[in-house]
Amino acid sequence: MATGSSGSARRPRRRPPAITVLRVGHRPGRDPRLTTHLALAARALGAERMYLHPPDEAVAATLHGVVERWGGTFEVVGAPSWQRVLREHPGPVVHLTMYGLPLERLAPRLARERSLLVVVGGAKVPAPLYRAATYNVAVAHQPHSEVAALAVLLARLRGVPGPGAPAGARARIVPRAHGKKVVASAGGVGGRR
Ligand code: SAM
Repeated sequence: MATGSSGSARRPRRRPPAITVLRVGHRPGRDPRLTTHLALAARALGAERMYLHPPDEAVAATLHGVVERWGGTFEVVGAPSWQRVLREHPGPVVHLTMYGLPLERLAPRLARERSLLVVVGGAKVPAPLYRAATYNVAVAHQPHSEVAALAVLLARLRGVPGPGAPAGARARIVPRAHGKKVVASAGGVGGRR
């Protein structure tokens, strides 16, 4: 049977990159729902943390409540300076913008990184951000939404999580063809990622 260095030898699966999100251009009090949805999508699709510039305690508190019930360690951290978040991040900075290079072209390279900082803008994006980014990346070259762009990037680089609760969950969804079923979770031990 072919083993060893032949083509049938299996390579260990590479770990997907750890992803931190930085949201710039948030307008506290004006669009809490959009930024909250961005954070919810980031958490559900496997990001570890979201820095929020400017800080907004209301969004951070909402996500804290979600994590208490549904598990995991995701957090929203206020960032008075987005430049500082970029300076202190140990890996490449990926800025999502419709003007960037196609995600499909860059995805294989990004997937090999250990840690990415993914930056999404709001209505206005500071010009220096385009220069400060390691990669400016487009998810289709049409205007759409920061939530959509982030979700597609996370799904492309990390896959879409299946059923199962993250560690620490108090509740877990049982998938059903119709209706809703939520059960108390035993802390999510053995759950997904
Ligand atoms: N003119 C902005 C731009 O540079 O993409 C559009 C602002 S849009 C309302 C808010 C954010 O959504 C952008 O800063 C970007 O992060 C994200 N976004 C929108 N369309 C995108 C696309 N096609 N590809 C990647 N990101 C996109």
